[in-house]
Amino acid sequence: MEVVSKYRVIVVGSGPAGCTAALYLSRADLKPLVLEGIQPGGQLTITTDVENFPGFPEGVQGPKLMELMRQQAERFGSEFAFESVEKVDLTSHPLTITTDQKIYECDALIIASGASAMQLGLESEKALQGFGVSYCATCDGFFFKTKEIVVVGGGDSAMEEATFLTKFATKVTIIHRREEFRASKIMLDRAKNNPKIEFLLDTIVDEVIGSKETGVQALKIRNMKTGETSNFPTQGLFVAIGHTPNTAVFRDQLELDERGYLVVKPNSTMTNIGGVFACGDAVDHVYRQAITAAGTGCMAALDCERWLTGERITERWDLEKGEEARR
Ligand code: NAP
Repeated sequence: MEVVSKYRVIVVGSGPAGCTAALYLSRADLKPLVLEGIQPGGQLTITTDVENFPGFPEGVQGPKLMELMRQQAERFGSEFAFESVEKVDLTSHPLTITTDQKIYECDALIIASGASAMQLGLESEKALQGFGVSYCATCDGFFFKTKEIVVVGGGDSAMEEATFLTKFATKVTIIHRREEFRASKIMLDRAKNNPKIEFLLDTIVDEVIGSKETGVQALKIRNMKTGETSNFPTQGLFVAIGHTPNTAVFRDQLELDERGYLVVKPNSTMTNIGGVFACGDAVDHVYRQAITAAGTGCMAALDCERWLTGERITERWDLEKGEEARR
């Protein structure tokens, strides 16, 4: 495999955190490489309207916002590669990052690998993914025109997905395992006031009924209070129950909390290894917003720049490898 040593800093992830880190790094003349991962642009690329990112009074489409962030980082010399990290060795410097295509050596690493949609964990759910089971209304909503579908979850994601899906579906039923919601009042009210949305509470899905030929036909559901089970006819299932951090590749080398989020030193983006910084949803299970991810991406770039200067690694690179060799 080709070994590439010309990037002083590598950013893993290309969502708001990764792009903002890259923007700040490139403006500091560090010209990072951004390893985009399997979903370039991150979770916002599977969202529609983003109404809460400052600077867009009329809102902005998620994919458009990410395209703009990437262009802004590229303008100052950031490079992007459509590669996914498969292995890292952070035990000594230079740090080694192995992707599906190359091996990279670098002095500092910024992890902005984000989070992914959680699954219910049913065999039948897995078997019917792409055949009526989805995790992304924006991606798949169009396929459910004039159909009756179910959204599982009780948070903002579930409300947002359900509301969006009413553009296509004739009826959307939100199935939630409790009576109380995690969703914010404004999102919940929007769903409650939508005449196409119904709620089925204190209920969980035990099985997705259907086949690859027929698609989803029904859900076997269970009332959490009575234990009663029944079949709920539906033509689609959207699972919107939260996210899990994309940190598995770092598990053996960096400190993670019990839920798998990367642990950083208070008021910084420093991990337990010098020169390795973490930001965005891979760290944050509290705020999880595009703007907070972008904010911590900025922090990571500033921390990284200061670390490189403080450790005099910049000078070591210049001496050992020569400025020309890296460009
Ligand atoms: P969340 O707030 O963690 O909500 C997840 C929901 O799924 C909860 O209601 C939870 O039920 C339910 N759930 C979890 N595991 C389940 C399982 N195995 N079976 C059935 N139900 C399950 O996640 P989220 O809705 O993705 O939101 C995450 C963050 O992003 C929040 O901070 C939210 O405000 C933000 N967000 C904002 C927007 C927006 O402003 N436009 C849109 C989307 C998300 P319990 O309540 O019983 O635990």
